[in-house]
Amino acid sequence: MQSTELGETTKSAMIAVVGAGTMGSSIVVALLAAGYSVLLKETDQAFLDKGMANIDRLLSGRVKKGLAPEEAQLQRSRIQGVLDFERFAEVDFVIEAAPESIEIKKNIFEQLDQWCNVDAILATNTSSLSITQIANFARRADKVVGLHFFNPAHIMKLVEVIPGLETSHDTVARALELAQSMGKLAIRVEECASFLVNRLLGRYMNESLFALEGGAASVEEIDKAVCDYVMPIGPLALRDMNGADIGLAVANFNYQEYGERFAVPSLLGRMVEANMLGQKTMGGFYSYDKETRKRAGVNPEFLKFLTGSTSKTGEFSAERLFLPMINESFLAMQERICQPEDLDAALMAGLGMRRGPLTLASEIGLKDCLAMLEAAFKADASGRVQERFRPAPLLKRFVWAGRSSVL
Ligand code: NAD
Repeated sequence: MQSTELGETTKSAMIAVVGAGTMGSSIVVALLAAGYSVLLKETDQAFLDKGMANIDRLLSGRVKKGLAPEEAQLQRSRIQGVLDFERFAEVDFVIEAAPESIEIKKNIFEQLDQWCNVDAILATNTSSLSITQIANFARRADKVVGLHFFNPAHIMKLVEVIPGLETSHDTVARALELAQSMGKLAIRVEECASFLVNRLLGRYMNESLFALEGGAASVEEIDKAVCDYVMPIGPLALRDMNGADIGLAVANFNYQEYGERFAVPSLLGRMVEANMLGQKTMGGFYSYDKETRKRAGVNPEFLKFLTGSTSKTGEFSAERLFLPMINESFLAMQERICQPEDLDAALMAGLGMRRGPLTLASEIGLKDCLAMLEAAFKADASGRVQERFRPAPLLKRFVWAGRSSVL
C-alpha cells in the first residue's frame, strides 16, 4: 500500500490512469518523468497495447532529445497495465482520461468509488463535462476534482485544477500538489463551461471565422497577423490541426452554455458538411501534401465557400480577434473563475501566447478596448446588436475608475 496522504507522496508513489488514449498515454509519460509509477487501466488488451506503443513512441522522442536510454527503460518498467480495477486499492490518486461521454464517466466513477480506498482522490481530465456531475457518481464527491491537462500532456505546462461544488479544500490542495510535482503550472479554476483557457480560446477562434466570413482578411493574412502579434500558430492553421468537426462540437457546446456571445460562425458548419475538416481530410483552410502531410498553401476548394470579397490590403489588425477574448477575460474575472494574476500565465502556458489577454488589454488601453467594443456592439441597420461585443461590466468599471491596467 502506498502512503495515504499525497502530501507525503514520495516520487515512488503509484498513480492510476484510466484510459490509454491520446491524453492518458501522454499523462503517463509526464508522471513517469516526474518519478511516479503508474497503474494504467484500459478496457481490453488491444487498447492497452496501442496505448503502450504510443508511450514507447513518446519515450523514444524523449531519448532523441537527450533522455538516457537506460532512464527511458527504467521509466517504462514503472508502468503496470491492467484491464480491471482490482489493484486500485493500492493507489491514492487516480486520473481518469476515458472518452468524453457522461455514461462512460458515470460507470468509471462508480467503479472507482467501489475499488479505491476511502481517502483516494479521483481526478477527471474532462474538457467539457461538469466536475460536479461526475463527482456525484462517486459517493465521495468531496474527493473528486477536475485535473485538466492540455494536449500533449507531457509537453504542455498548464494544468487547470477545477473543484466541483462539493470538492474539499484538501482535495484541491492535493491536486495542485500533484500537478506541481509533475513540473506543471497548476492553476485553480472555478467550474464553468470549457473552464478558463478553452473558454477564452473559443471567443477568439469564432472571431477568426467571422473575420474571414466577412471578408476582413484572407486566410493567410489572418494567420500571419496573429502570429506576428502574439500567437505561436494562427487560428485557421490551428482549426485545421484539431479538425473542424471537433471545432464545431466545441463551438456548439459553448453556444449552448453561454448563449449569443458565443454565436457559431456558419462557415464552420458548412466546412463540416463538405467534409473539409483540416489535416485529417488533407484539406481545410489549407491543403496538405499527401506524402509529407505538410501545409501546401490555401485550399482552393475552401475559397469557394467565401462569397464576399477578401481584403488584400494587409490592413487587417489582429487586435480584432483578441477583443472578444479580452472581453471574455473580464467576464471570467467578474465571475471569479480565477485569480486575475493567474489569468495571463494560464493563457500563456495553455496556448503558448507570448503575452496574455490582460497584458494586451493594457497595451491597447482599457479605454480603447471599451470604445472598440462599444462601437462593434452597436445596432446595425436591421436594429440588431452584435451580442459578442457587448462590453463586460467589469471592463467598464476599470475604465470608470481610471485604471490603465488590471494588475
Ligand atoms: P481517446 O479516445 O484518445 O482515449 C480514451 C481511451 O479510454 C481509449 O483508449 C479507450 O479505450 C479508453 N477507455 C474507454 N472506456 C474505458 C474504461 N472504462 N476504462 C479504461 N479505459 C477506457 O480520448 P482522449 O482524447 O485521450 O480524451 C480523454 C479525456 O481527456 C476526455 O475526457 C477528453 O475530453 C479529455 N481531454 C482531451 C484532450 C485532447 O486534446 N484530446 C485535451 C484535454 C482533455
